[in-house]
Amino acid sequence: MYPAKFDYLAPETLEEALSILHERGDEVKILAGGQSLIPMMKLRFASPPTLMDINRLPGLSRINRTNGTLEFDALVRHNDVVKSDAAKANHTVSRAAPWVADPIVRNLGTVAGSLAHHDPEGDWASVMLATGAELVLTSSDSQRTVKIDDFLVDMFTTNCLPNEMVTKVRVPAHSSRGGGDYQKLERKVGDYATVGVATSLELDEGGRVAKAGIALTSVFHHNLKVPEAEAALEGERPSDELFAEAANIASQVCDPASDVRGSAEYKRHVVDVFTRRGLAKSYETAKGGLT
Ligand SMILES: Cc1cc2nc3c(=O)[nH]c(=O)nc-3n(C[C@H](O)[C@H](O)[C@H](O)COP(=O)(O)OP(=O)(O)OC[C@H]3O[C@@H](n4cnc5c(N)ncnc54)[C@H](O)[C@@H]3O)c2cc1C
Repeated sequence: MYPAKFDYLAPETLEEALSILHERGDEVKILAGGQSLIPMMKLRFASPPTLMDINRLPGLSRINRTNGTLEFDALVRHNDVVKSDAAKANHTVSRAAPWVADPIVRNLGTVAGSLAHHDPEGDWASVMLATGAELVLTSSDSQRTVKIDDFLVDMFTTNCLPNEMVTKVRVPAHSSRGGGDYQKLERKVGDYATVGVATSLELDEGGRVAKAGIALTSVFHHNLKVPEAEAALEGERPSDELFAEAANIASQVCDPASDVRGSAEYKRHVVDVFTRRGLAKSYETAKGGLT
C-alpha cells in the first residue's frame, strides 16, 4: 500500500527544524532513519500531514565519550554504534548494537528514533532502561533532560512533546568494575526479539553488586525494567544462586503473549535463562576490574 499524501520538509539547520516544530508540531512527524515510520505510513497506521526529514541537519551524528558518559546525537545510526570504539565504554550498549535488525536497517535506523518510536519489541529501550540512560529533548525555546524511565510512557507513547526533538541520548559508561550484556532470541537473523534481556552490573571495591540493571524486550506491553530483580542483586555478593533468584523474579513479572514466535510459557522460560546468562556475562566482565 502507498502512504497517504503528505508534505515534505527538509530543513538544513537545527534552528530551522525546531522552528518548524514550534509552529506546526501537531501536524509534523520527524523522519530520521524512516525504518519504523515509513512502514507505519505504508500500512496507513500513521498518516502525518507533514514529514520533516532531519537527515540534512549538520553535526548530529556524533558519538562522544565525556566524563563517564556516552552521548549519542540524534542521527547516530545503529551501525555507527556497532562500529564505534567509544561505544564500548558501555558493555550493554556495545553488545546489543549488532543484534538490532539487519545490516540495511542498521545503516539507516537511529538510536534516538528507536527510543522515540518506543515499539515494545525495540532493543534500544531495554538497553537504556538497564543502563539508566537519559535523553535531551530540545525545542525552539527550551531544553530538558529526561530519565529514560520517565521518557517511555507506554507502547508507542513517550514524553516527547510535539514541539520537541530528541537531540541527545546519554548513557553512563561502565566503570572498570562494570559489565553488561544483551541476550536476544530471534526467529531468524535480523528479526525483532522473541525475547530480549538487557543487563548491567557495577561492583563495589569488595566485589558486591553496587548497582544492577535489568530490562526486558518483547515480553510486556512496553519494554520492562525489573526493579524488584535489581533490588535483589544490589548489596549482595554475585553467585549463580543470586543470579537465579533475580532471573526468577524477572520471569514472574513479565507478561508475554503467546503468538507465532512461541507460547507465553516458553518465553517466560527464556527470560529466566537469558537473565541468568546475561548477569553471568556481565559479572564476567565486571570482575575483571577487581584488584
Ligand atoms: C525489517 C526491519 C527489522 C527491524 N528489526 C528491529 C530489531 O530487531 N530491533 C529493533 O530495535 N528495531 C528493529 N527495527 C526498527 C528499527 O530499529 C528502526 O530504525 C527504529 O525503530 C526507528 O528509528 P528510525 O531512525 O528509523 O526512526 P523513524 O522511522 O524515522 O521514526 C520513528 C518515530 O520516531 C520519531 N523520531 C525519530 N527521530 C526522532 C527524534 N530525534 N526526536 C523525536 N522523534 C523522533 C518519528 O517521528 C517517528 O514517530 C526494524 C525495522 C525494520 C524495517
